[in-house]
This record gives sequence, C-alpha cells and structure tokens, in this order.
Amino acid sequence: MRLTICGSSPAWADPGGACSGYLVSEAGTNLLIDCGNGALAYARKVCSLLELSAVFLTHMHGDHTADLLCLAYALRHGWQRPEPLPVWGPKTMAATLRTLARGACADPNIFDEVFALHVYEATEGGRPAVVQPEHRLTIGALTLTMASVPHSISTVAVDVRADSGARFTLSADCGPNQTLPVLARDTRLLLCEATAADSDSDVHLSGAGAGEIATAANAQSLLLVHYTGELREHLLKQAAATFKGEIDAAYAGLQIEL
Ligand SMILES: [Zn+2]
Ligand SMILES: [Zn+2]
Repeated sequence: MRLTICGSSPAWADPGGACSGYLVSEAGTNLLIDCGNGALAYARKVCSLLELSAVFLTHMHGDHTADLLCLAYALRHGWQRPEPLPVWGPKTMAATLRTLARGACADPNIFDEVFALHVYEATEGGRPAVVQPEHRLTIGALTLTMASVPHSISTVAVDVRADSGARFTLSADCGPNQTLPVLARDTRLLLCEATAADSDSDVHLSGAGAGEIATAANAQSLLLVHYTGELREHLLKQAAATFKGEIDAAYAGLQIEL
C-alpha cells in the first residue's frame, strides 16, 4: 500500500501546500480520502483522474471538500469517465453539494451527473468496538472502518486496511475522545490531526493530544496532519512528550510505503 499525502494543512493552506487529502494506492485501487483545496493537484501526480477509483469524505467542511467542485469540472469537461466516480460521504453530503453547486456553478446538478453519491454508516461515538458490517466498506482492494468522532459537524475517523496486512488510521478532524484509540488499536501508522496550538479544544487536538491518542491506541508511529506549518516544531515537541514511538509531521507530496 502506498499512501500519498496530498495536503496536510488545516483550514487554510501553507505556502506550496494544500488542505486535507490522502491518496491510498493498492493493487490498482486509487482511493482519495478527503478532497480539500489544492489536494487534487498532488493526487494527479500519482494517478490520472481516469485512474481514480473513488473519493471518501470524512466530513463536509470546505477544507476537506473544496476541490470536489474542480474535480466535477474536470470530469465533465476534460476527463469523461465511462461511469460516474463513486463518492462516499455522510448523510449531509448530497444536500451540501447541491447548495455548493447552486452558488458556484451554472448547473446545480453537476455533482449528480459526474459523481455516484453513496452514504456510509459509522459506529456511534464511544462504541467503536461494536463494529457491524454496515460500518465497514470495501472499495476495491481496501477495507475501511468508520467511527464517529467529536467535531463541529458529523465526522468520522477511518481505519484503512489491505489484504496484504498494510494498514493506517486517520483521525479526521476531532477533539479528545475515547473512540479513536479503539478504532486505531495497534495500528501501524496513526495520521492524527494537530490543529490546536497549545491545548486541545472540544473539536481539535494539540500535538500533545495527538500523542496521547497514539499512546492509548498503542500505535507504532504517529504522523501529524491538519496542522499549520508555522507550528510544526512546536507540535512535534508536544507530541514527543506524550508518545514515545516514531513521530513525524506530514507535508503535501510525502509518500509512505506501508
Ligand atoms: Zn473540520
Ligand atoms: Zn479540517
């Protein structure tokens, strides 16, 4: 499994960076998790828009979805696919996209035309151990498990596995919680958000909070994501105080073999 970081900035992009996007490539499957502003350009360095298998959205905030509009333009006018591109998201996805299209595009139905929209089910926050089949999703060569995490809108963390045994877990945007350590138990790599500068808030984690979750999950390694570049060293230092495994901070274009 190859993981490409297509964007690791928080709500606004660092110079030369992009907002949330994670491309997972495994046995011919290319899954883009989140599609924040600028992420598509980095994904296209790895696979063409015709080779993209699906998009998965952790939640509908703009820094995770803004490039969907540009992707829709591309699929309509430049890269016509034989079938609509599957896009998985929360229950609010269709209504949110329709509102976006009405405000930003002459055609309010553009998303319905180029995307096949699918809604996923997540485990309830705090009860991720009770995973039912509907909480799992198979997309090509990948199996995803979703669990609700606390954020300002409905959001899921996601655990991604391949038959080869390769695995990573993505926190999405979240405040402190007991759900993520269970979902990420013994994971090879935890991608954890570190948006908050000094201490956790209800909806975002600090570097220390990310380290605490990595420790509670017994993760092998921790990669900070969704952080602003100016805070990189500060957040890494915070995380090192609460997690004793390998720690690094992501940047757009980083590739990891798992
Ligand atoms: Zn968010
Ligand atoms: Zn975000």
